[in-house]
Amino acid sequence: MSMLTQVRPSLLGRINERQVLRVLQQLGPLSRAEVVRQTGLSAPTVSKAAASLMRTGLVEENDRADNARGRPAKKLRLACETTCVLGIVVDAEMCQIVTAGLDGKLLAGRDIQVATPDQYEILIDHLVAAVEDLTVGNGWTVLGIGLSMPGLVDYRRQLSVLSPNVPVTNGQSPAVDLQTRLGIDCVMLQECHALCLAERQLGLAQGLDDFAMLEVGTGVGLGVMSGGNLLIGHNGLAGEIGHITLVDQGLPCGCGNRGCLETVASDSALARRVSRKFGRRLNIQLIIDMVEAGQIDIADEIADNLRFLAIGLAALINLFNPSTLFVHGRQFAVDPNFFERLVKETRQRALPPSFAECRIVQAKGSKTLGAVAGIIQSLTSAIAPGFTSPMPNFPR
Ligand SMILES: [Zn+2]
Repeated sequence: MSMLTQVRPSLLGRINERQVLRVLQQLGPLSRAEVVRQTGLSAPTVSKAAASLMRTGLVEENDRADNARGRPAKKLRLACETTCVLGIVVDAEMCQIVTAGLDGKLLAGRDIQVATPDQYEILIDHLVAAVEDLTVGNGWTVLGIGLSMPGLVDYRRQLSVLSPNVPVTNGQSPAVDLQTRLGIDCVMLQECHALCLAERQLGLAQGLDDFAMLEVGTGVGLGVMSGGNLLIGHNGLAGEIGHITLVDQGLPCGCGNRGCLETVASDSALARRVSRKFGRRLNIQLIIDMVEAGQIDIADEIADNLRFLAIGLAALINLFNPSTLFVHGRQFAVDPNFFERLVKETRQRALPPSFAECRIVQAKGSKTLGAVAGIIQSLTSAIAPGFTSPMPNFPR
């Protein structure tokens, strides 16, 4: 049972806590007097809200001196010494587990990678072991876990429905299983939604309400933030641009269809083309390393990927009219001009008025930051409903 469920403040108290949380999240550590100034609340009200937030573990107070001569100024801040959250990213080859403060910043040296096994029970065992390795015996309270999953995530039923690139999780509820095993609140996010939250909280999308995030990795996925909320569709399955058919009777896709965008524009597609050319199996990281070392020339293969990727970008600019289109991926490292060429080809295919109003930029966030942002959003929403939460409000 988490500490959050033990705290049931009055509605007014919750509204005050929300205000205090908001200024701490926006402005960083503040003294009580500064919180009073920033919120317009009275000093006793701020003290009461702070005490309540400290009981939940979301906020802590430090008493370090601001400077050598100054009197020690106690500052309220989002907890990062007494409590933490975890982010777990499940991906095709590897899973990453990271630790972060309630301010969303990752804690250095407190992360683990494990290979993604091909049996679901082993995956959960490995993730539980990794979480225990990171947390047992260090005296910290873990408030929650954010879990980033590829493929289709049904938020309504908390199911990983269909993951073409990590099929071991199909039909499973990993967040529920981790929560049961560890006794820690766990919230599951589709990986593109995680990237949207990361970019909005800590990256280049701060203050943006209408943007799209194209993830180009093992597959191709999309997250759309519209009017400050994630566009998720009926169950959470919206945004699957990677499985729109681009090549009639093309190569089989992990989803069961043929010729999907991700069979021709993903990292896997590039790796497959390059592997065929050189007659040996190469993954994207190896290809990036070999290109950087000047060992291989893959201009034709890059051009093929780029052409299809531009078709995808143009389609989503036409469909969603985003103010900014973020593109997340490491494929761009194969050519210093890749991104510039991608934008140029997209311009040729998108509707001119939509393209003219859309910035295309490389995302700065990561799925690990997104998994962390997801659990923080969930925890802060639980304590203060409506607190800047673009997360789908389904029961969990
Ligand atoms: Zn597909």
